[in-house]
Amino acid sequence: MKNFDVIIVGAGPAGGHCARQLAGSGIHVLLVEQHETFAANNFSSAATPMETLAKYELPESIVGSFWQNLAIISTHVQKRWESSTPLGAVLNFAKLREFLAGEVTRNGGEVWLGHRYLTHSSQKGETVVMLKPKGKEEAVAVQTRVLVDATGAARSLMYPHRQNRPAFFTGIGIEYLITVDELTYQSCAESLMFFIGHRWMPQGYSWIFPMEPNILKVGAARYQGQHQILDDRCPAIKQSIELLIKEYLQIDDYHRLETHGSNLQYNRGLQDIYYRDNLIAIGDAVSAVNYLGGEGIRHGMETAQIAGDYIQDYLADRRGDFAEYQHHLHQQFKRSWDISERSAKKVYLDYSDRMIDKGLAYLGTLELSEVIDLVFYYRFEKITKGVRRILLRKLTGFWQEIRQRLGLSSRIS
Ligand SMILES: Cc1cc2nc3c(=O)[nH]c(=O)nc-3n(C[C@H](O)[C@H](O)[C@H](O)COP(=O)(O)OP(=O)(O)OC[C@H]3O[C@@H](n4cnc5c(N)ncnc54)[C@H](O)[C@@H]3O)c2cc1C
Repeated sequence: MKNFDVIIVGAGPAGGHCARQLAGSGIHVLLVEQHETFAANNFSSAATPMETLAKYELPESIVGSFWQNLAIISTHVQKRWESSTPLGAVLNFAKLREFLAGEVTRNGGEVWLGHRYLTHSSQKGETVVMLKPKGKEEAVAVQTRVLVDATGAARSLMYPHRQNRPAFFTGIGIEYLITVDELTYQSCAESLMFFIGHRWMPQGYSWIFPMEPNILKVGAARYQGQHQILDDRCPAIKQSIELLIKEYLQIDDYHRLETHGSNLQYNRGLQDIYYRDNLIAIGDAVSAVNYLGGEGIRHGMETAQIAGDYIQDYLADRRGDFAEYQHHLHQQFKRSWDISERSAKKVYLDYSDRMIDKGLAYLGTLELSEVIDLVFYYRFEKITKGVRRILLRKLTGFWQEIRQRLGLSSRIS
């Protein structure tokens, strides 16, 4: 039986980055993935801010395109913020994971594609993991000192039995990859466009991202649950994608290259199981995805990076368990993730269309840097700052009107 220091199940961004980092530190790692190719589950839109590339040393070869403008469009309001320099990238999700896996082998680790995790059992600090190679009858046994659940929303190791799972907040996302004419592409190039409100995507949001020259990612995500106002006859997610193509892009002549999608399963209040003995979970398996915006790549990689340090300490007997890891992640994420969770519930499941329009009109009063801070860095205090600015503007107008009525100069001293 083959023996490893660490076996990581799931070659998503979190698993790939964790394996890459550990292999780079000389640890004997096996990265396991159920799919035979990275193109097979190419489900993510993979938009990310610029810092992801630098922080995780990702090469430009995995970038589909860069973005420098941000647009948010609701039923009756459109807001757009522009920058003269790139603010982020739309990654090629398959290439990202392929790159990370390539780094694992380059650093001396092993990557087994087409192997599905079945079960594991532990005895005296050694864990035997059963993997099922695709197309073979017999399962393979491998041994490890630490086992990592990086299976994303599936949480296949932490919750092997479906009936034991808590009631997650669930979002379902579908995306089309379409080729379009040059003019249409140029109208979307360098921009992340999000669509909210009941006209575009009731109970969720939709988007258009530039992927590569003449290729767009057009998708929509719906959050499950009973809306306060809407009845449950929401259009199918694909209908909302086609609405964007027909009514926003206004094209008939496009070619659909691919349709992909997946589920987000978020554990309310970050109550996931982070570790059990020598088993530790990272990425979406511990709800690293931000439930408000659905961004999870960067955050999953961050949990992987943090877990990597704890795993090294554990292997070197500097730590007896991973309790501190859970504490570390809560310190890092919990406050902003709790606010994001509450905001997501309000925006996607409570608000009327008018409230969403009003919220966007208000957002439009913020500067680009403030919107980026809010959307990508969860600095919710920007909202109160903006509210103060609006109040001040209203007060100023009110004051000027009074002075005019009294026949005084309109200049405020
Ligand atoms: C439609 C959609 C659009 C998105 N857009 C963005 C975006 O624009 N930007 C962003 O940052 N995030 C986005 N996200 C979220 C982001 O993709 C995820 O948060 C991220 O991929 C999570 O990474 P992960 O490594 O934790 O899990 P995953 O990427 O889900 O990887 C888990 C891996 O484990 C494998 N696996 C599962 N079970 C087993 C098993 N039993 N045996 C072996 N392997 C197994 C799976 O095949 C998978 O490859 C989007 C998500 C969706 C659904």
